[in-house]
Amino acid sequence: MKPRIAILGRPNVGKSSLFNRLTGRRTAIVDDTPGVTRDRKEGDARIGGHDVVLVDTAGLEEAPPDTIPGRMRASSETALREADLILFVVDARSGLTPSDHAFASWLRKHNRPVILLANKAEGRTGAARSLEAYELGLGAPLPVSAEHGDGFGELHDEVAERLKADVAPHLLEEDDEEELDTEEKRRRRPLRLAIVGRPNAGKSTLLNALLGEERMITGPEPGLTRDAVAVEWTDETGGKVRLVDTAGLRKKARVHEGLEQMSTGATIAALKECEVAVLVLDANLGMDEQDLRIARLAEREGRAVVIALNKWDAVEDRNAARRGLEDVLTASLAQMRGITVVPLSAATRKGVDRLMPAVREVYARWNKRVPTGELNRWFENALTRHQPPLVGGKRLKLRYCTMPKARPPTIAIFGTRAELLPEDYRRYLVNLFRDTFDMPGVPVRINLRGTT
Ligand code: GDP
Ligand code: GDP
Repeated sequence: MKPRIAILGRPNVGKSSLFNRLTGRRTAIVDDTPGVTRDRKEGDARIGGHDVVLVDTAGLEEAPPDTIPGRMRASSETALREADLILFVVDARSGLTPSDHAFASWLRKHNRPVILLANKAEGRTGAARSLEAYELGLGAPLPVSAEHGDGFGELHDEVAERLKADVAPHLLEEDDEEELDTEEKRRRRPLRLAIVGRPNAGKSTLLNALLGEERMITGPEPGLTRDAVAVEWTDETGGKVRLVDTAGLRKKARVHEGLEQMSTGATIAALKECEVAVLVLDANLGMDEQDLRIARLAEREGRAVVIALNKWDAVEDRNAARRGLEDVLTASLAQMRGITVVPLSAATRKGVDRLMPAVREVYARWNKRVPTGELNRWFENALTRHQPPLVGGKRLKLRYCTMPKARPPTIAIFGTRAELLPEDYRRYLVNLFRDTFDMPGVPVRINLRGTT
């Protein structure tokens, strides 16, 4: 039994597009005409680390857009009743319509778990307009773009949390996130990997080296068009890997012809969808502003990162190259202290076999949870070693902390006026946490929860 997730919303908000992206069918049939009849579609998807059945209700709404006629209500109601979780979609671009409001109040009446998605929220205006959806009384809207992939990292996380928290924990027992790094689970579930870096760093060459002889490129799927390309393979550790930045493969469907030069947009989309990002550097050039920017984006998205120091075969002074990189990392990427660097040559394949084990290792750290007891012993110790500073003449009282989530590791700190904790003290806690619990190279989040 897998959890069922239904996508609901009025016509044309992007339900099918969302369904396609979540099930990995990038390009299936979307249509601009409202109310185009389609059957209720179901598909398997992997969302937030869980296998789920996704139900697309697009096409159930054959009706003037501002009413909820009987037929649609009946079909939607079936979908709703059978679902463990609802993704309710509105269109951030067009704004809310009376039928969104009608739909929302109908949903509220049923009192089922709902995640509100403001779709088409790509770009700044889209994201801003998505806030309007607060009005629906279904909680905070999550801005996403089914077409561009924005917000999908958050969507995956949110779904995972909701399934776990209040929906269907009994259905998840087999697949608890905390145990994902056990041998068995690893084999079943592909690790979502992005290969990022500036043009010519050697991303395509590296991908080919990773795929080796075992190249397994699926797609386009039957009945679908153009760019439905998924790249999945089994690495030397025996685990499955799925390349997420297929947007980068769009124009050239065949991998050996090279990844499309990644635009910032495509890089961000890949970072949002992945779990671990491999940042490919040209060792002859070192790490420059452009590389740092990508690394910081990865950090911002909370992704684990491994650096592939490529073209190692062509480096003349290896010591200098190594030192140069160390210096840049220390000076400019302190947020990811201890990041793993794997020198390799994608072209000769020397050292490539060390990359995936390094990825697995950082992935395991990124997944790690610290039990609350242990965490609070660490916390007391941290406070003793270095007292929280005075703010406005008063010492902040920090009481305890919890770790509400991993992927990336996130600690929540509770205390009186905790939210006023200065930046350098936060940094102290984050660094100490990372050192104590052995999470080098992993972005760590800190949430401060003031109590009064
Ligand atoms: P449905 O009727 O709710 O299933 O909506 P569709 O998935 O068929 O999408 C309706 C229209 O919205 C299509 O033209 C899509 O290309 C477009 N669309 C879907 N998602 C997005 C998005 O994230 N951004 C933008 N700009 N358009 C989108
Ligand atoms: P991308 O733009 O990041 O996908 O980079 P490519 O994979 O297309 O590689 C860019 C250039 O670097 C090509 O000419 C490759 O042959 C070369 N290249 C890639 N990996 C290596 C390597 O390990 N050593 C050397 N010497 N050249 C490499």
